[in-house]
Amino acid sequence: MDVDVLVVGAGPVGLVAAGQLGRLGVRTLLVEPRREVVPHPRARSINVRTNEIFRAWGIEDEIRSACLPVEWGEQMVFTRTLAGEEIGRVPMRTQGTRDGIEYSPCAWLLSSQDRLEPILADHAARQSSVEQWWGRELVGLEQASAAAGPAAAVTAVTATVRAAEGGSERVVRARWVIGADGASSFVRKAIGVRMVGRHGLGALVNTQFYADLGPWTDHRPAALYWTTAPAANVFQKIDPHGRWLCQISPDAAKGDPRDLAPDQAADWIRRSVGVEDLEVRVVDTIPWSVSCTVAEHFRVGRVFLAGDAAHQLPPSGGFGMNTGVQDVHDLAWKLAGVTQGWASERLLDTYMAERAPIAEWNSQRSLDNGRAVAHIRRMAEGARPDLHGDAGLPLVRRYTNFVGMDLGLAYEAGALVPDGSAAPVVEDPVVDYVPVARPGHRSPHHWFRRAGRPTSSLDLFDARFVLLAGPGGGPWRRAAAGVAAPLEVMVVGEDLEDLEGPSGTWAEVYGVERDGAVLVRPDGMVGARFRHGGADLTGRFASALAKIVGPERASGAGRISGDTPPGGR
Ligand SMILES: Cc1cc2nc3c(=O)[nH]c(=O)nc-3n(C[C@H](O)[C@H](O)[C@H](O)COP(=O)(O)OP(=O)(O)OC[C@H]3O[C@@H](n4cnc5c(N)ncnc54)[C@H](O)[C@@H]3O)c2cc1C
Repeated sequence: MDVDVLVVGAGPVGLVAAGQLGRLGVRTLLVEPRREVVPHPRARSINVRTNEIFRAWGIEDEIRSACLPVEWGEQMVFTRTLAGEEIGRVPMRTQGTRDGIEYSPCAWLLSSQDRLEPILADHAARQSSVEQWWGRELVGLEQASAAAGPAAAVTAVTATVRAAEGGSERVVRARWVIGADGASSFVRKAIGVRMVGRHGLGALVNTQFYADLGPWTDHRPAALYWTTAPAANVFQKIDPHGRWLCQISPDAAKGDPRDLAPDQAADWIRRSVGVEDLEVRVVDTIPWSVSCTVAEHFRVGRVFLAGDAAHQLPPSGGFGMNTGVQDVHDLAWKLAGVTQGWASERLLDTYMAERAPIAEWNSQRSLDNGRAVAHIRRMAEGARPDLHGDAGLPLVRRYTNFVGMDLGLAYEAGALVPDGSAAPVVEDPVVDYVPVARPGHRSPHHWFRRAGRPTSSLDLFDARFVLLAGPGGGPWRRAAAGVAAPLEVMVVGEDLEDLEGPSGTWAEVYGVERDGAVLVRPDGMVGARFRHGGADLTGRFASALAKIVGPERASGAGRISGDTPPGGR
């Protein structure tokens, strides 16, 4: 079998990769040894930025219906036992708003992987160019060269895929491979990439169970209930039907956490709740170890790494799955460009240039969060807990308020054309977010009315370039006509009615004159900004696009999209 892209692993990252490649019309095969999604909650946090991707796909409402109501994500509660003395509460401000200003049409959501993944798998299944092979695992990977010698260009990857129960093998030839096969990645080992960072920072036993914890939680809904007696734990509500997760630390397990039997876990939960006769039904106990590592390389030849295969983050803050989802959202349009002939292979080098610094930054901040929560807990355990005093406030602020880290993500180098402007200076990049359409940043959210309906600027960006021009920017239509890449031009005031918000008009939010324009990439990141119109729009636009997708591909032959008719509108 021949495919353009082979995606290895159907965790959240592989499923998003397949879904996005499918939306871009790329022939994709997804292989996964399991026959169904893992029935264990694992990561719960869906960041605002990740949810924006799901909104663009039209599955945001479906995902929201698989999430806890928003009030369950608005605070953390610290107690001794869950039913015992409350030590303090810490508000969480991770939503897409700050100080009443809306930064996104999407909210931060609390779901769990076992509820999210079936929706992502259905979405991938609806893409006609995507085939999914569940129950089959990758057992061999070889990169073939056109000629012999170390410098020979790799032309294809030959993958051997075997039925997970053993038995028949099939060979797949893929132009490109995405290894989204998790922390113990077969793909990463096959291409000889090392993880750098700190392994084994801690071990946790995720215990999924049913119990009625309503009497101690319904009146104070929270994302996390930290308990300190008899030892540190965190309780997390999974669904409205009495399903919970308790992350038990190995101290509690006393000895090897893998040996924690279900009845011991149930007993531990009763003691941590502080109710000896609590009815607890343990579903499963899964030990896992916390690491903070990033791969040395995100690409070798035609093989890319993404998600936990490329970085493992401590769970504090919930950035692991989100970072992985955003990796493949970055990679998918680049692979589409190369396989469909409108981008040069050099574009693929920008994947690591863009994503590795983000993985590094997010993993370090997740480590900080782990330290912060340990410190907050120690304060909370003190005789005079002062979570909001001078010592506590900066930690609390950083651990529970990630708007800057979530929406302020930016690439300094990659598939973008710097416009000479400096990144906004903020007091704390984890907490503070300033909407800015500087190349390399996420395009800011701004409300328009389109065909009579309120439309976020973010609703315009999915699976093709968009050149968004100001009210005097009509001439940009002709300048962008006839390019090879899939592209749509939209002019504010003609195609979109500007609904001025608290931060001003669209042109003010995006930092352009009335006749300026912003080129937004298919992943919603700003590729280039033209602050004003003027002479030689065609040359300026062609030059910018060529810097993004590669000079030999930016115009003329190879056109695959009918989005922009030759000669413009
Ligand atoms: C037990 C456990 C508990 C966790 N709890 C939390 C938590 O509470 N909070 C949090 O933020 N994060 C948690 N995590 C981490 C979180 O689950 C990951 O960050 C997230 O799943 C990463 O997604 P992924 O798609 O990159 O990898 P994964 O979800 O690991 O998916 C990888 C997929 O690849 C498949 N695969 C493996 N080998 C092959 C092969 N040879 N061929 C084909 N497919 C293959 C696997 O079957 C799997 O489905 C937990 C992880 C584990 C293991």
